[in-house]
Amino acid sequence: MIRWEAVIGLEIHVQLATQSKIFSAASTAFGAEPNTQACAVDLGLPGVLPVLNLEAVRMAVMFGLAIDATIAQHSVFARKNYFYPDLPKGYQISQYELPIVEHGRLEITLDDGVQKVIGITRAHLEEDAGKSLHEEFDEFTGVDLNRAGTPLIEVVSEPDMRSAKEAILYMKKIHSIVRYLGISDGNMQEGSFRCDANVSIRPAGDAGYGTRTEIKNLNSFRFVERAIDFEIGRQTAVLEDGGEIAQETRLYDDVTGETRSMRSKEEANDYRYFPDPDLLPVVIPQDMVEAIRGQLPELPSEKATRFCTQYGLDAHDAETLATSRELAEYFEHTARHTDAKAKLVVNWITGELSAALNQDHIEITESPVSSTMLAGLLNRIEDGTISGKIAKDVFRSMWTGEGDADTIIESRGLRQITDDSEIERLVDQVLQDNPEQVEQFRSGKDKVFGFFVGRVMKLSQGKANPKQVNGLLRKKLK
Ligand code: ADP
Ligand code: MG
Repeated sequence: MIRWEAVIGLEIHVQLATQSKIFSAASTAFGAEPNTQACAVDLGLPGVLPVLNLEAVRMAVMFGLAIDATIAQHSVFARKNYFYPDLPKGYQISQYELPIVEHGRLEITLDDGVQKVIGITRAHLEEDAGKSLHEEFDEFTGVDLNRAGTPLIEVVSEPDMRSAKEAILYMKKIHSIVRYLGISDGNMQEGSFRCDANVSIRPAGDAGYGTRTEIKNLNSFRFVERAIDFEIGRQTAVLEDGGEIAQETRLYDDVTGETRSMRSKEEANDYRYFPDPDLLPVVIPQDMVEAIRGQLPELPSEKATRFCTQYGLDAHDAETLATSRELAEYFEHTARHTDAKAKLVVNWITGELSAALNQDHIEITESPVSSTMLAGLLNRIEDGTISGKIAKDVFRSMWTGEGDADTIIESRGLRQITDDSEIERLVDQVLQDNPEQVEQFRSGKDKVFGFFVGRVMKLSQGKANPKQVNGLLRKKLK
């Protein structure tokens, strides 16, 4: 039996967050009435000329620096010719032989903690096409050209990934970087961040590559993962059956979870690329690159490293927090306002808080429990006012708007019982009420101990200090 290994390379399209389009002054704002944001340049009307948006160039350079790439001092726009209703000019302005960014790299952290480098072949600037709307009209297809001319960078990876999981880790990291840099909103529902996945398989250990298929336009991490896994399974079945893989473009159907053939793969020479005579080469002076480098924010991996040293976090926690700039800021703000250990802060953020955010489908920036409020809650755990268990109830109450931790603890009388004589009274009562279990425990059934702890906690409405309860129970049961 052959053991197959998957080979995956991603092409990620990132919409740049410029105000205006890459070659015109039309707005890039999402959601406008169809065809209200496409000007003569976007439509390719005769006699107009494109003018390059400097901001798009700056953003591409920022991205290149963030992935340790080479920034080309000289890059060239090229026409990629094809016919499609949402491409009014009959060509897309892209970059071909001389892209603005080349030879980058990115590290991903695998499940076992091992770091793996993924090579980034290139990232080039290009314009987006318009959109064909097939669903709104009977018998007709609508064309909305608002998106035509929106700036994109297309980030092309080396075929360095070996599983859907690795592909997702890589894609998430790129997503995180563009959001940190502020060069894209990364909104996948709105199509600001989408991916074509190239997949092939080969017998494990082989040095060459198998024939690949390309799955187009995946706009969620989940779809990318499912589409790749489906495709690996499909190709394995074809080859084990003695068949051959056709090099083709496939579509992922999120209803069936399957990919299906769309067209045979086009070759570069099908596009008749040639330098766009309407645009000058882009020349980027070194001092501009250095100026941009000086303005780069702290990036996810740098932040994660700092979190490890500054807060003593382990690599996994540090990376989880650093994935999003907003999450990282929430963590640091909370940590600064509490005496609780950083690890406790992390556990609350990745535990209760994340669960609540997910459940209500909101972002951390919209959290009803602010970092200051969470810090206040953790302080009350830290100073022994409440137990971790009660803290969860207080958290729920803060979430639903009952006020800050101190207010809720006071108004609901949730202070922990730490008075020894009061706890002793509760312990005595539980032992008295359960003579059978006391007998069992004394005859060697250790497990019953947990039963007593549970009863005392219940009797105290969760307020008794668990450590004291344990101690007193042990003493009394001896
Ligand atoms: P194209 O522009 O025609 O799509 P490229 O050569 O630029 O082709 O490759 C596009 C992507 O396909 C890259 O991300 C690359 O890593 C990936 N790729 C190339 N060959 C393979 C292969 N055999 N298996 C999987 N991915 C591949
Ligand atoms: Mg491609």
